[in-house]
Amino acid sequence: MEKTVLLSKSIQELTELFPSQPKFVPKQIYGFLMDGKNFDEMTSLKKEFREELKANYIANPIEILEVFEGKLGTKKYLFKLTDGNLIEGVYMPHDYGNTLCLSTQVGCRMMCNFCASCLDGLLRNLTSAEMLGQVVAVNRDNCGTAKARAVTNLVLMGSGEPFDNYENVLDFLNKVSEDGGINISERNISLSTSGLCDKIKDFADSGHKVTLSISLHAPFDELRSNLMPVNKRFPISKLVKAAKYYFDKTGRRVIFEYTLIKGENDSDACAKELARLTKGFPSHVNLIRLNEVKERDHTAPSEDATQEFLKKLEKLGVSATIRKSLGNDIEGACGQLRRRYIEDQTHE
Ligand code: SAH
Repeated sequence: MEKTVLLSKSIQELTELFPSQPKFVPKQIYGFLMDGKNFDEMTSLKKEFREELKANYIANPIEILEVFEGKLGTKKYLFKLTDGNLIEGVYMPHDYGNTLCLSTQVGCRMMCNFCASCLDGLLRNLTSAEMLGQVVAVNRDNCGTAKARAVTNLVLMGSGEPFDNYENVLDFLNKVSEDGGINISERNISLSTSGLCDKIKDFADSGHKVTLSISLHAPFDELRSNLMPVNKRFPISKLVKAAKYYFDKTGRRVIFEYTLIKGENDSDACAKELARLTKGFPSHVNLIRLNEVKERDHTAPSEDATQEFLKKLEKLGVSATIRKSLGNDIEGACGQLRRRYIEDQTHE
């Protein structure tokens, strides 16, 4: 019989699962789970009960398989799921707190042609427990507890398209911000989407108030459709409208992500059009230098060229910054670590 995952269950659900336990036990288990403890470490529970838990349940469905340490304290995590699938995350310490970049799907089906996450397509959605499990596991690995957190900020920017796994992502947001749990406030959470406009609107109406990042990457439809097939379904005009709607509903400034690719989206005309599109409502442009993926035929611009593009945007009155790429010395984001790991295994 398949074991049931306990992480992400509410105190109420735990009470229903263990009716013969004293009343305070479900709350204790909930706290232990959020701290990232395994059943052996839940020493205040009776020994036989712990044995019963070990035989029938899984505490956290995420296992840390490997950790790669990079520059400035960055750590790249390779996680194993209970079905053997692999996903990845990146822990990035900052002076204002520590951010975890987590995955929402195994693979992806958006097929952006500069990204490594979708090279094998979408394998499956992550459950909300698997998303929460990444937070709990990395928090614990960095000596945090639910009360004294090491992970203080989250970005849903690992592999996967969060809005292609909408229900589970919303459930995760509810659980990760729950009082008494790991309790990361939505003010400290960013979600990045390739631009599923219908879901951006639903999300704006949902009452959640996380920072929304939109992967724009090109200001012209033809160019964007070449890079990101999702643009054929939701072209730029619709996307900008959806972004404005999100701002109107939530009062939160929208972030546009713009990965600079040499000779493709770094022209003066691109800078001008990008400025035109993002004017008229509070937004910010995050420039990212392309992280070159060996299977993909795109080139990163130089650091200088990236600075120049930033200056052009600033001259045009755009609020913009260059995102520090903390991950690329350890095969940063974008599904590259998982891929290399799988390749290494199959070539051994
Ligand atoms: N599916 C979501 C979130 C995942 S990716 C989205 O598309 O927004 C997080 C960010 O990294 C996105 O902006 C994505 O376009 C960008 N990205 C993917 N591959 C990249 C690469 N090779 N170099 C730089 N940025 C990349």
